[in-house]
Amino acid sequence: MKKDNELSEELRKVARKGGTEAPFSGKYVGSHEKGVYKCAICDTELFSSNTKFDSKTGWPSFTEPTNLENIEFRTDSNHGMNRTEVVCKKCNAHLGHVFDDGPEESGGKRYCINSVCLELEKKDQIPYCARIDL
Ligand SMILES: [Zn+2]
Repeated sequence: MKKDNELSEELRKVARKGGTEAPFSGKYVGSHEKGVYKCAICDTELFSSNTKFDSKTGWPSFTEPTNLENIEFRTDSNHGMNRTEVVCKKCNAHLGHVFDDGPEESGGKRYCINSVCLELEKKDQIPYCARIDL
């Protein structure tokens, strides 16, 4: 687990202060590489490239996390909106938000996650749900 003083300024701003990276600025927005996206701070598995889709919003978007136990949801009423914040359960990092306008055939959720909070571990073979692999 990285310490707060080891984080890049951008990561600290987003993960520790609930910020949002500029749309289309993140390194994983258009990525189609296969692998598992881990928390950039504590290395916990969060999302699989199998559930990543192109939402055209400017942030990496997923239909579901690999393991709901690694994620915490919080109500975020900042900015006059009622949104659901997505937080890494292990290190408390703000990851992004989850919305109900995702692809219907995959459950209708859109996890809108900041690239800076993720680290892709490339894998050729990934199970649909990484949890099965444990
Ligand atoms: Zn974490």
